[in-house]
Amino acid sequence: MRDIIRSIRNVFFSMPSGMAVTFKHLFKKPVTLDYPAKKNEMSPRYRGLHYLERYDDGTERCVCCGLCASACPADAIYMEPQENEKGERSAKVYEINMIRCIFCGFCEEACPEEAIILGREYEFSEYDRDSFIYDKEKLLVDHPRKENRFKRILRRIRRVYGVPEANQ
Ligand code: SF4
Ligand code: SF4
Repeated sequence: MRDIIRSIRNVFFSMPSGMAVTFKHLFKKPVTLDYPAKKNEMSPRYRGLHYLERYDDGTERCVCCGLCASACPADAIYMEPQENEKGERSAKVYEINMIRCIFCGFCEEACPEEAIILGREYEFSEYDRDSFIYDKEKLLVDHPRKENRFKRILRRIRRVYGVPEANQ
């Protein structure tokens, strides 16, 4: 008798209520995404993969001052400086370890040259750990933006006359 009652309950209550849930969601917009064919629109505040910017004329913005590395709480940035004959500094080596990075954005905020920027790229998975060390070749991109006119004039003066020695 118990089994009969249970069967009746299943047929007339449990199954219809289950089907009702199914039909309720059948015509709703799905919450999942057909990734990677379709991609989510990231928030404007999203911080993704870094890149190093150049000036309009193609020269690198980074002067290898080390402020980004000092600000980095994860110790993810390594750099070695170099100087040209005019005394202009740039990075001979500039590396970011993306496995260590926590994408906090402190490096971007610390940079006086606005050279390092956290972009919106989030697809950078790799098969081996070494590939997560991003060097200059990977980081440098052509991404010109409107430059501050005063800074541009100052930079041109420096290029013509060189950088004065600090102890002169
Ligand atoms: S985003 Fe944060 S953790 Fe990543 S390199 Fe910049 S300062 Fe370091
Ligand atoms: S990215 Fe910016 S803060 Fe970092 S070394 Fe270059 S100029 Fe300095």
